Amino acid sequence: MKNLDKPKQPPKVAATSKECPFLLVVFLFLLSNTNLQAQKLIVNADNGKMAWHDTAMLNRLIRYEAYIYNGFFDKQIPDSLPVVINLYKSRKQFLAVRDAQNAVITKTGFYSTRSRQCFIYQSNEYINVTVHEVSHFLMHYHNYYGVPNWINEGMAEFFEGLYINEKNAIYVDQQTGRLQKLKSYISNGELDLVKFLGPEMSSWSNKQDIELKYNVAYGIIYFIIKTHPEYIKQILTSLKNGESSTTALANCYGSFQFFASRFNAFYR
Ligand SMILES: [Zn+2]
Repeated sequence: MKNLDKPKQPPKVAATSKECPFLLVVFLFLLSNTNLQAQKLIVNADNGKMAWHDTAMLNRLIRYEAYIYNGFFDKQIPDSLPVVINLYKSRKQFLAVRDAQNAVITKTGFYSTRSRQCFIYQSNEYINVTVHEVSHFLMHYHNYYGVPNWINEGMAEFFEGLYINEKNAIYVDQQTGRLQKLKSYISNGELDLVKFLGPEMSSWSNKQDIELKYNVAYGIIYFIIKTHPEYIKQILTSLKNGESSTTALANCYGSFQFFASRFNAFYR
């Protein structure tokens, strides 16, 4: 699910960002034990077709995203399994489909676990939204019994930053607005990480605090990928084995308290 009430992103500045080379290295590391095949993309558009350059870009970004998930789970998604994207130029039609499937929060896109398809409104940001929703498709494929929302949405928000720069290379942009909000929660003492990761925050179906949930979820994933990308794989494995989020983090960091102290220091 994609909520769109987030702060507007500044324009992407590919080659000059200091974050990008690091993240590229991270992903090359994660990709090291996967092989390079293409993921099939099926686009059902309600009004004409997707522009060829958008199709080419999405194919590339989704293939890249699929490789990373293959690495996280040590399992290759079959190339024959298509990524189905239902694209709506008509906002009215998109909202009708959304309401019929009870995807109430989103204004721009959602992933249906029932049909295993993505439903996207063709806004100006629809490429990013599609990459976000395809992250849910890939997570669902690899971890059928589900992962907590914070990691599912945090990863999707992270992948949403994927783009192709003017040198035709894939980079990850950071969501500065979300990180700024997260810093303010921490400095104002408004964030209780144990509560955030606990069972009482497991439902994201109501709109209360939804912005905070996305900001914190993204911030946790961003922190881990920036500092210990290899932990993502360990955390996903722990969660898949039925361990709680706090235990999964403690397994990586030695204790949950140590994770929390590093996290808070990172955003100080
Ligand atoms: Zn989402």
